[in-house]
Amino acid sequence: MEVGPKQPERAKLYWCRRPFDYDGRPRYRGQIIKLVGLRNDEKLVRLGYAAPHPVGTDVWECGQCGEKFIDKGSRDGHVKAQHLRANEPLRVGMSGPAPIDVEGEAEERHLEAIAPLHLDRTAASLA
Ligand SMILES: [Zn+2]
Repeated sequence: MEVGPKQPERAKLYWCRRPFDYDGRPRYRGQIIKLVGLRNDEKLVRLGYAAPHPVGTDVWECGQCGEKFIDKGSRDGHVKAQHLRANEPLRVGMSGPAPIDVEGEAEERHLEAIAPLHLDRTAASLA
């Protein structure tokens, strides 16, 4: 096997097209992350959960935890989900049927429209 010239070490930055758990932590849509060489890294990119982050684009940082995002909307969404919801008072003692997860379903449809997964690129379809 031929060995080419050495490439300079570059941080492999990706951004999350979809929210997913990675390296034991939840990652938010739009969050910029490093893929650290886990077993499923290749799969995350191939199926469209993560995409290479374009170098030199603006970055929005969370003022509370320092995580970085590709746009303001993603950053604000993360702040709301990660930092604000935990401070809401617990709603205890509520009766009645469990609330329907309308927000979750709408979110999934929205994501499917703006960031469809590459489910045609599963291992089976590539074999
Ligand atoms: Zn944060």
